[in-house]
Parts: sequence; C-alpha cells; structure tokens
Amino acid sequence: MNVIDGSGAAGFTADVALAGDRIAAVEPALEGEADEVIEGAGRVLAPGFIDVHTHDDRAALDAKLSLPKVSQGVTTVVVGNCGVSLAPSPVRGNGEVIPPINLLGKPGDFAFPRFADYRARVEEAPGPVNVAALVGHMTLRARTMDELERPASESEIAAMRADLAEALEAGALGLSTGLAYPPSRYAPTSEVVALARDVAAAGRLFTTHMRDEANGVVASVAETISIARQSGVRTLISHHKCCGEGNFGLSATTLAMIAEARETLSIDLDLYPYTASSTVLLASFARQSSKVTVSWSDSHPEMAGRDVAEIAAAWGCDQATAMERLRPGGGIYHQMDEADLRRILTFPPSLVGSDGLPHDKRPHPRLWGTFPRVLGHYVRERGDLSLEQAVAKMTGQTAGVLGLKDRGLVKPGYHADLVLFDPATVLDRATYDDPEEPAAGIDMVLVNGETTYEAGAMTDHRPGRFLAD
Ligand SMILES: [Zn+2]
Repeated sequence: MNVIDGSGAAGFTADVALAGDRIAAVEPALEGEADEVIEGAGRVLAPGFIDVHTHDDRAALDAKLSLPKVSQGVTTVVVGNCGVSLAPSPVRGNGEVIPPINLLGKPGDFAFPRFADYRARVEEAPGPVNVAALVGHMTLRARTMDELERPASESEIAAMRADLAEALEAGALGLSTGLAYPPSRYAPTSEVVALARDVAAAGRLFTTHMRDEANGVVASVAETISIARQSGVRTLISHHKCCGEGNFGLSATTLAMIAEARETLSIDLDLYPYTASSTVLLASFARQSSKVTVSWSDSHPEMAGRDVAEIAAAWGCDQATAMERLRPGGGIYHQMDEADLRRILTFPPSLVGSDGLPHDKRPHPRLWGTFPRVLGHYVRERGDLSLEQAVAKMTGQTAGVLGLKDRGLVKPGYHADLVLFDPATVLDRATYDDPEEPAAGIDMVLVNGETTYEAGAMTDHRPGRFLAD
C-alpha cells in the first residue's frame, strides 16, 4: 500500500508491521508470519489524525459521542480549547455554568473538582481516541472570581496560578484562552502573561482564541505575539480567521506578521476548512455575519436548524431580540471568505483542527467532516495542497507543535495510531443542511494498535489513552 508517513515527505510503497501498540517495521516488502494481514491495495496508510482543536472534553468520556471523530480517521483529540475546559470544575457558587463554558454540558456534567480527577476518569474508562487536555483560562476565572467583568486581582491571579500548577502537574498539555468571550474579555494582557509565564516554565503550550477575529484581528495577532514574547511561551493561535466582510483579505497581513514572529518565537496556528464559525449565541458575533443559523436552543429547542433572520421575522422582533430569547443556545455564523481560508490552509505552518461542538442539536458540519473535507475537497478536487502536505498538517506537524511523544508518524517505534483511506473517494458528506453524515472513504482506523473503526462502524475496542509527558 501507499504510505504517507506524516512528515510531509513523498508517499512510498511499503508494508507496515505492528507489534502490540507500536509500529514494528516499515519496509518495501516484509517477509514472514503475521497473525493478521490487511491488504491496502489502492489505499493510503497514514498516521491517525490528531484533532488539534476540539471541545470533546465530555464527549471523550462517552464512546458513542466519539463517532464523529473516529469516522473521520481521528485517533487523538486535544480538549479544553478556547479557555473552556471541563476541569477543574467551573460551576459557580450559585450552581450555574456560564456561557460559553455551557457548550460542554449542564452543571451536573462538571464532575471533576481537580484536573487530576478528569485525567483519572479518562484513564479508568478510556474511549476510542487518545485525549490530550488543556486547562481553560475562562474555567479558572469562573472558579476564582465573583465578578467576571473586570481584571483579576493579585490574589485571584495567585489562585488561578495554583489551579494551573495543579493541572500542569497532573499532565495538562497547557493553557487555553478565549479572550473574545465576555467572561474573559475583561482580562488584560498582563493577566494572561502572568499565567503564560508558568506555562512556559513548565515547557507546555499556550493556545488562544484571540480577543478579536473581526475588526481587531490584526491588533489581536499583535497582542498574541506580545504575550509569546513577554512570557516566552510556545503559542498556538486557534482557528485563525478574519470575520466580517470588511475584514476579508486581512489574512495576508496576519500571516505575514506570524511568519515574521516565527523567526524568533514559537508561534503556530490552526484552522477548520469552512467559512462559517460556530459558538454560543452572541450579538457581537452576529453583527459580523451574513447569516446565523441556530445550532441549539434550550428555550426554543424546535428552532435548531432555522435561521435567526427567519425566526425574528416570524416573531416580529429584531435579530438581537430573537437571539436573546433563544438563549441559552448556539449558532452557526457565516462570516468568512473562501480566499482567506485557502490562504491560511496553504500557509505551511497551519494545522487542521475541527473545533467541532459534539453536544449541539444541529451541529456545524465541521464536527463530522473536517479532515476528509481537506483531503477530498482541498487536495483532490481543488489541488490547493499535496496529499502529503495535508496529512502532515493533521499528524506529524501537529504532534511536533503539541510535543506528543512517538505519535504522528508512520515510523518504527511509534505508537500504532493509523488510518487507512481511499484517496480517490475520501470526502466529507456532512453539510449545513445535513450535518451528521459520516465521511466517505475512511476504511479503517487503529489506535495504539487496536481497530476502532472498520467497515463503516465503530468497533468495541476502547484503546484511547490520556497523553501526558
Ligand atoms: Zn474558539
């Protein structure tokens, strides 16, 4: 079969032998006995995809909620992004979970007082994917601060640093922020730097859903570079995009800034291959969108899948009022330009992550379609990237940025996280109208040497691990 090893190097024909949870050999023609032989004629064997940007904190604890990922060839998920993590528990004194942390579940779902408790739960009852976990700045703020619409005080920063230290000690991959969201918007750069310094000292990663991805996107990239410079932390810009028609084309500027910063700092970025975003219902996001579709609503569950403009017309109110009535809820915001998306996707350092929202009633199709969409649409149909470059953005390059040991390559000694796919047919089938369709062309997925997906269905194996240093 054709092996694309995840390094970005040209594919080659080889046999691959597995022993236990590892890759034992990669050779042009292996001889000898094997318990089982998988013929991969016409197929590509690649490292399993690493979903660098997920909100699967709770989905990873429930195997059936992992189907959207397993069916795309994903073998590892990074949870805890955008400042939002399930642990340590962010439930407020009044028993509430604030938006957007409520993307992850209801108050009762936040059952882990410490980060170590979350890790223990993953290890006690693993799922079909490996889990690497960030701790969220917003989660720490919600635990610590009585009033969120202000900077944290010195003592509150000290309390957050103590929580952060516990998480890093328990194996957190690093710290995430969601500075665009109301509960974190009031955090000044200095508050973030104070925490990022601890992350840098531990040699871990800082990820950021930046303060503004619309009119302020250039200033936000500058702030991010400044945080990296002041703290020395390895930094990953989450789901990079330029929202709002007036900001289309700004990726030429932001990518040039990132390229220049990369000469002296460790700064990477990820993206999802769609021109609509998705998060909780927020008027500020809607203002930069041509269309908003409801992905879930607790107050009006029947409205999931309908456009806010249509709902507002039916209710005889403006869209902001309709969104207020639909809350708590989520939306899909059509607000990006295809040319920016392609420029970011083809920028060599960018990584692919889904940002899928696994608990939404009518989810954004990125939850089910991200990786096959890049391989089928952007590689095969459009020719924007080579298959080798695209695979590297989902595997070897990602493992390098995350610091995952012995994963992300088809190489002897590496963990046997693998996907077998058909390069002629691989494609996303999830759409905005029909968002929960498994992808085409994914034949088989293995995690730590065990099959997790085969013949279009998830197996009973649960070989996932918690990935820590
Ligand atoms: Zn985000």
